[in-house]
Amino acid sequence: MNDYHVVSFSGGKDSTAMLLHMLELSMPIDEIIFCDTGAEFPQMYDHIARVKKYIGRPITRLKAERDFYGFMFDYEVSARRTKNASYHNKGLSWPSARIRWCTRRLKADIADKYARERAKEYNLVQYIGIAADEQHRAKTKRYPLIDWGWTEKNCLDYCKSRGFDWGGLYDIFSRVSCWLCPLQRMDSLRALRHNFPDLWTTLLDLDHKTWRTFRPDYSVDELGAKFAAEDEMEHRQVNLFDAV
Ligand code: SF4
Repeated sequence: MNDYHVVSFSGGKDSTAMLLHMLELSMPIDEIIFCDTGAEFPQMYDHIARVKKYIGRPITRLKAERDFYGFMFDYEVSARRTKNASYHNKGLSWPSARIRWCTRRLKADIADKYARERAKEYNLVQYIGIAADEQHRAKTKRYPLIDWGWTEKNCLDYCKSRGFDWGGLYDIFSRVSCWLCPLQRMDSLRALRHNFPDLWTTLLDLDHKTWRTFRPDYSVDELGAKFAAEDEMEHRQVNLFDAV
């Protein structure tokens, strides 16, 4: 069987750096795949379109049978599988640390299905963009960033040196994933509300329409109230300081 070299591309700084540098090194690449959750930042979709144009090659977009919103609201959950089914049994609602349905259904399952299909014809060689300071996550497959010793910072600096800025996303967030992720850190959520008021309004709307609360400890309304109170406190402290 011939080798078939596949780059797993998320659009983030690490896999972007890996892809660009592999091309610069003329490493073999037969296909570039991107698992689309449907819930990336608009700036991330713009970035992916820019990368595609920059490298002058197609990027295969893999999608599950539904996007994030389809699973969240429309997927039929068996009444036996959720305590809340008697109340509202449609949709998987927000993922949580315990029920992280999104990574499996929107990423792992479709990537595995793709790999199984390709492996029928080829000896599949997959390249994953895990940075050298994240190498505890590496298992099998190939990890060029680890081979090169490139840290997350190296990756971001390199991408910026090639003209990619993600519309400023990495100036706001240290990690960029689905904009609506309930598992993102509190400071990311704070930054989301501060910098993307339209997305925050959409987040509120989504939380109002689904049966599981955004996070076990906070609804989106409660988070908004918490962040507003923090802003108010900070504002008062600044005024007090100015008055002294
Ligand atoms: S970033 Fe969050 S919402 Fe998106 S797939 Fe990962 S865990 Fe799920």
